[in-house]
Amino acid sequence: MSDACDICQQRGEINLVASGIAPITYGKCGDCMERGAENIGVISIWLASYGGPQNAPEYCEQLSSFLASEYVDWHDIREHYRQNEEEILSSFNAEFFGND
Ligand SMILES: [Zn+2]
Repeated sequence: MSDACDICQQRGEINLVASGIAPITYGKCGDCMERGAENIGVISIWLASYGGPQNAPEYCEQLSSFLASEYVDWHDIREHYRQNEEEILSSFNAEFFGND
């Protein structure tokens, strides 16, 4: 098993913690546990499953993630989604419906 955090890639003491939004378990460092940070890829797919950030449940505004070497809040998560929507939707479709 990897000793790097699944959210921020920091190495060190890693704890297994269930995601708050997806049926997966992360290896999380202490910082990410404290912030309740979620993996940006997981959040993106989660948002895609609602048809985009505008349709996500209200608690999405509490989400925290790690992007380009810093922690980000909902505002930046939504912006990241908007900028990468095409790519996110194509991996969402590949994951759930196959490529064809
Ligand atoms: Zn971390």
